[in-house]
Amino acid sequence: MPIDAIEPYDDENIFAKILRGEIPSSKVYEDDWAYAFSDINPQAKLHVLVIPKGRYVSWDDFSANASAEEIAGFVRAVGTVARSHGLVEPGYRLLANVGAHGGQEVPHLHVHLFGGEPLGPMLA
Ligand code: 5GP
Repeated sequence: MPIDAIEPYDDENIFAKILRGEIPSSKVYEDDWAYAFSDINPQAKLHVLVIPKGRYVSWDDFSANASAEEIAGFVRAVGTVARSHGLVEPGYRLLANVGAHGGQEVPHLHVHLFGGEPLGPMLA
């Protein structure tokens, strides 16, 4: 069920539990700003979720309220994950669903990183 992008942050959301280590995840990268793990239901040969360590519901919340340091750290982490998987050439796709119309289901900002195969046209 997609979320409302302006709802308050819920510390019991599933990605908060993954960050706290209360739920297992397949970690691919971690630094001071971000945590990256394999999606449980991959939609491409490689499907990684990159999440900020801060408590942000969505891209909207993050872009409005995160510090410049948090934003820079998170953006750099996404690029690092892509490079470390050898995706720069031939390329990859980033996606962040926001709120109900975006189809966002987990209320902690996450960027989907897809790659490892030709991805075809953008999803509808
Ligand atoms: P959204 O629709 O919110 O952009 O994407 C949520 C993503 O989280 C989905 O691709 C879904 O497969 C993934 N997901 C949901 N629950 C879990 C979980 O417990 N572990 C992992 N690794 N991924 C999850």
